[in-house]
Amino acid sequence: MGNPFDLSGKVALVTGANTGLGQGIAVALAEAGADVCLVGRSAPDETVAKVTALGRKAHVISADLGSADHVADIVAETKLAFGRVDILVNNAGIIKRNDSIDFTFEEWDSVMNVNLRTLFFLSQAVAREMIAAGRGGKIINVASMLSFQGGIRVPSYTASKSGVAGLTRILANEWAKHGINVNAIAPGYFATNNTAALQADETRNAEILGRIPSGRWGDPSDLGGAIVFLASRASDYVQGITLPVDGGWLAR
Ligand code: NAP
Repeated sequence: MGNPFDLSGKVALVTGANTGLGQGIAVALAEAGADVCLVGRSAPDETVAKVTALGRKAHVISADLGSADHVADIVAETKLAFGRVDILVNNAGIIKRNDSIDFTFEEWDSVMNVNLRTLFFLSQAVAREMIAAGRGGKIINVASMLSFQGGIRVPSYTASKSGVAGLTRILANEWAKHGINVNAIAPGYFATNNTAALQADETRNAEILGRIPSGRWGDPSDLGGAIVFLASRASDYVQGITLPVDGGWLAR
C-alpha cells in the first residue's frame, strides 16, 4: 500500500501562500512530496525558498483574487507549468472589523468576493479540469471558528466562512462521484497578519488564550497534518467535513 499520506508526483495549487497559514500549508504539502503553484497578489519569495529547499518545485502565479475573472487563466497556467492539478487549497482570505450597525457595502463586498465568490469559481474551474483529466482530486477550503460561531464585529467574515462550510458540503455532494474530495479545515486562533489586531489587544489576547485548552496561539505549521491528510489518499472516503484545528477552542 505504501505511505497513504505521500504526495509525490502531485501538484497543488495554494492561494494566498506568501505568508501566514498559506505559507504553512504550501510547505506542509511540499514536505509530503507535492510541487506547488502559489497564487496571490504579493510575491511569495520566502515560500518559494522554503519549498525549493525541500527539493520540490514552486511556480508563482500573480493574481488578485478580489475578482473571479482570472480563475480559468490560473488553472491554465498551472497546467502549463506542471501539466496537471491534483490539489486545490483555497486559503486566501480577508477580514474587516466594524460594528454591524455601521458596516459598509465595501466592507461586505470585499470580504465576500475573496472569501466566498472567488473560492467558489476557482473550485469550479479546478474541478472542471480534474473531471476532464479523470484522476479525481482534492479540494480543501480554509474555513474558520466563525463557520461554527457568530463572532462579533465581523459580519461579512462570519457570513463568508459560514458559507464556506456550506459550499464544502454541496460541492462534496456534487463532485464525489468524480473522485473529488471536498473538505475544509477550520483553524482556531493562529498568530498571523489576520489576527495581528487581536494579538496586540492585551484584553482580547488574554481572553482568547484563557479559552484555548492547548494554552497557546496556533503556529502555521500546526495545520500541516490536517492539510496533508485531506490532500492525500488517506482521506479518500472523507467528504464535506469542516475539520477544526483549534487547540480545543470549540470543545470549551
Ligand atoms: P494573512 O496572513 O492575512 O494571509 C492572507 C493571505 O490571503 C495572504 O497571502 C493575502 O495576500 C491573501 N489575499 C488576501 N486578499 C487577496 C486578494 N485579493 N488576492 C490575492 N490574495 C489575497 O492571514 P492568514 O491568517 O494566514 O489567513 C489565511 C486564511 O486563514 C484566511 O482565509 C483566513 O480567513 C483563515 N483563517 C485564519 C485564522 C487565523 O487565526 N489566522 C483563523 C481562521 C481562519 P496579501 O499578503 O497580498 O494580502
